Amino acid sequence: MLQPPHSSLQVAAVPAQRVPVRDRDQDAPWHTEAVCRRDEAGLFFAPSKEPTAARLSREEAAKRVCARCPVMVECREHALLQPEPYGVWGGLTAAERRVVLARRRRREMELKKTARTQGRIAAAG
Ligand code: SF4
Repeated sequence: MLQPPHSSLQVAAVPAQRVPVRDRDQDAPWHTEAVCRRDEAGLFFAPSKEPTAARLSREEAAKRVCARCPVMVECREHALLQPEPYGVWGGLTAAERRVVLARRRRREMELKKTARTQGRIAAAG
């Protein structure tokens, strides 16, 4: 049976009713190459009431694991598309993923605005 990435990391920051997607769709191809399958528990998800310095150190350690992972891009996109609210995925923390998503939304809005403007110009011309 396949073990999902971070399989031993069902820890406090992930509410019991919200099972991480990486544990649900473990048959997805990218999971089979996930480096984090072999990493120690607690690296990718925060324990409850984790001090800031410990969190930053843990997240940097998780990112170092992600940096050598062959499926980092797939994992990151998965976490952005879900979106996954907790943990380090694809080398990004939850806060960093929120920034990426905000940038994407802003870019999409700008593209739509440009398309509308070009449509009006074409209709007038
Ligand atoms: S990129 Fe990081 S979180 Fe994603 S599968 Fe690889 S090691 Fe795990």
